[in-house]
Amino acid sequence: MIIDTHCHLNDQRYFDDLDEVITRAKEHNVKGVLIPGADPRELPRAVEICEQNENIFFSIGVHPYDLEFYNEDELLKYASHPKCIAVGECGLDYFRLPKDEVEKEREKEAQKEIFIAQIKLAKKVQKPLIIHIRDASEDSKKILIEHNAKEVGGVLHCYNASPILLELDKHGFYFGIGGVVTFKNAKKLVEILPQIPIEKLLIETDGPYLTPHPHRGERNEPWYTTFILDRMSEILEIERAKLEKIILNNTYKIFEEFSKHS
Ligand SMILES: [Zn+2]
Ligand SMILES: [Zn+2]
Repeated sequence: MIIDTHCHLNDQRYFDDLDEVITRAKEHNVKGVLIPGADPRELPRAVEICEQNENIFFSIGVHPYDLEFYNEDELLKYASHPKCIAVGECGLDYFRLPKDEVEKEREKEAQKEIFIAQIKLAKKVQKPLIIHIRDASEDSKKILIEHNAKEVGGVLHCYNASPILLELDKHGFYFGIGGVVTFKNAKKLVEILPQIPIEKLLIETDGPYLTPHPHRGERNEPWYTTFILDRMSEILEIERAKLEKIILNNTYKIFEEFSKHS
């Protein structure tokens, strides 16, 4: 059994056929999904999906691209929902910063501020973090350590293969492996994968984005985690069924609720 620890099932690209998406997942033994928070305006939809499906959970958080919608009081209202099991996705994303130096710094500072606020929020509600990092590994690592994110731990979702983040293993963090690992040009991730402690590996689609080979170019969905698992098993030279079991156990450790509903 596989649990997709990061799929935006509340995205509008799933509006028309969500039931089929969930059915296909079950048919392929993908029996749980975590819907990460990104744009808080999409939270009600996440809650609705979770209330209709036993093994689907959500998290509260604001993606670095949606900073302007951060409102702690609003998020806290959702924190006590029985299906809310994490905080995020939050973090730093320096991929599309403004060109102007002053504005660039301002944007970075704004991202850091909201990131730190969410680490504090996670500690307040005692839930693990879902971390989003793009082109900002140094700063993200520094903030996570300085603000003692270890207290709640979490997952570096869609782990970007940066060696400097490996150390976060010692700070209670897991590594979410997604479709990128199946890409022909995924050299960095393929090389670093065996360096991640095996008891820290998680699996995710990040659907509707980052669709794995051989479906690249299409919308991503939870059952495609099977292709990610196939590739991981190949790279790590661990029997697929054995690896599946290890990853499931890892998932239960960091997102305990899944173990009660499986
Ligand atoms: Zn992300
Ligand atoms: Zn995401």
